[in-house]
Amino acid sequence: MNDKTAAYDVIVAGAGPTGLMLAGELALAGVRCRVVERREDRTRESRALGLHGRTMEVLNMRGVADEVLARANPIPRVRVSLGHSLFDMGELATDYGQLTIIPQGETEEVLEKRATALGVVVDRGVSLTDCRQDGGLVHCTLEQDGRTWQESASYLVGCDGSRSRVREAMGADFTGATYPYTIIVADVKLGTPLDDQLLIRVGRAGLVVATDFGNGWYRMGVIDREKPWSDDPVTLAEVDQTLAKLFGRDMRPSEPLWTSRFHIQERQASFYRQGRMLIAGDAAHVHSPLGGQGLNLGIQDAMNLGWKLAAVINGRAADDILDTYALERRRVSQGVIKVTDIATRMMTSDKLPARVARKAVMTVASRIPRTHKVAVGHLSGIATRYPSMSSAVGASPLVGTRVPDLRIAGHGGPRHLHEVLRHGGFVLIERGDGAPVLPSAAEGEGILLRLRGRIVADSGPWSEPEVVLVRPDGYCAWAGPRSRAQELSLAYRRWIQD
Ligand SMILES: Cc1cc2nc3c(=O)[nH]c(=O)nc-3n(C[C@H](O)[C@H](O)[C@H](O)COP(=O)(O)OP(=O)(O)OC[C@H]3O[C@@H](n4cnc5c(N)ncnc54)[C@H](O)[C@@H]3O)c2cc1C
Repeated sequence: MNDKTAAYDVIVAGAGPTGLMLAGELALAGVRCRVVERREDRTRESRALGLHGRTMEVLNMRGVADEVLARANPIPRVRVSLGHSLFDMGELATDYGQLTIIPQGETEEVLEKRATALGVVVDRGVSLTDCRQDGGLVHCTLEQDGRTWQESASYLVGCDGSRSRVREAMGADFTGATYPYTIIVADVKLGTPLDDQLLIRVGRAGLVVATDFGNGWYRMGVIDREKPWSDDPVTLAEVDQTLAKLFGRDMRPSEPLWTSRFHIQERQASFYRQGRMLIAGDAAHVHSPLGGQGLNLGIQDAMNLGWKLAAVINGRAADDILDTYALERRRVSQGVIKVTDIATRMMTSDKLPARVARKAVMTVASRIPRTHKVAVGHLSGIATRYPSMSSAVGASPLVGTRVPDLRIAGHGGPRHLHEVLRHGGFVLIERGDGAPVLPSAAEGEGILLRLRGRIVADSGPWSEPEVVLVRPDGYCAWAGPRSRAQELSLAYRRWIQD
């Protein structure tokens, strides 16, 4: 429960994509939330530029996907220059079978607009310098222009990036490693056009990921094997020479909008929660940028944590529900760290076994329909599931998986599940006209919304169960026949006290 003596229920440190998404989720549930951000302005660097299919679904569940799409360049296919490999996101069973290319600053702008419209206060130029918790409060020391003061809240969430102050205060380790090479990133125009909108080119000289912003500029992300480590500022001449070496022809880069050189790390926090302090996004995990997962993971962390923290603050759940956030999300980031590490090592090594392996792996992964489906499912986040949700004996295999945007034909006309989820609560889908299952006091308070009707269109396994309970973050909490309504009730009350 929250302490009404504090001005805010939650202080979020950091107005990056994770902090802004989380703040929006909390405000949607009526939680008083304040974001403090060290920087005066939103980032103008393009940084993370690809939103994967599941992230777009999540943004649609909150009504902002169209605004993102209006600013973006959707790219359905990734070509890898090994064995003519092509990964086609268009084959995914989602409305967002693509990588949605949009500079990070614009994604943040959309998320901030949503959060502030819901009443979130974003204070820029304010740093969190210290924090400690006692009793029912977290006390934060804030600093702006040399002035420091204290503010307290019921919870503090550190979305404050890889050097997180909150993680440090929690005493969590950030174990992992730094790779022995640096990456050059350059947003440039190209005098020599590319045939592909998204190309990963791998050769003896190194690796380049070329991404088309759709407005004349390309993002070139480069690892140069001949110059693996440097801290020098990036020059256009260096980009020109490196690209010529990697493409085997003069690419004629010009008009650099942004260049940078950064070190790649893979690290994960030893725990995500200590009492009333939590961490999310880069504060909790960092990994190789190959696969473009960083920002996507942060948004999914926020989506998972937001409704749970709101339920605790609103007195609808016990605080141990917060441990399920770490349980579910640590496993996902562990998987991403592992896979991106293997891919990065395989793609950047010049040793013969690695060269043979990467060609074989890419060919198998892209050409065999089954492995292609698995690869794009994981890359897009569509295949992400939370096995710990399905621990009950006899639980449907659908429990813990993402629920697609089912079309439900009911009395009020067809509804799209992901649009219905925009209210931020649970959705109970009941097929047929039998007596309503799961009577809930929370119904009518926006915590549970009932949809009665028939699941239409080709919905695969989702057409079978008579009842499907969907969590606010779009994952299946229960699925089965009406006759097992008692199990449904238990599954619901695992999350929400009625
Ligand atoms: C140069 C660069 C290029 C990248 N390219 C890609 C890419 O191509 N694809 C990809 O997926 N990812 C990429 N990333 C990673 C991606 O940007 C991150 O994964 C993503 O930004 C994580 O979001 P976040 O909100 O968790 O953290 P951040 O975006 O780091 O946001 C943290 C925020 O907290 C603020 N903050 C920090 N400390 C404090 C404090 N004490 N008090 C108040 N505020 C504080 C910071 O100013 C910042 O605004 C790149 C990162 C960098 C640095």
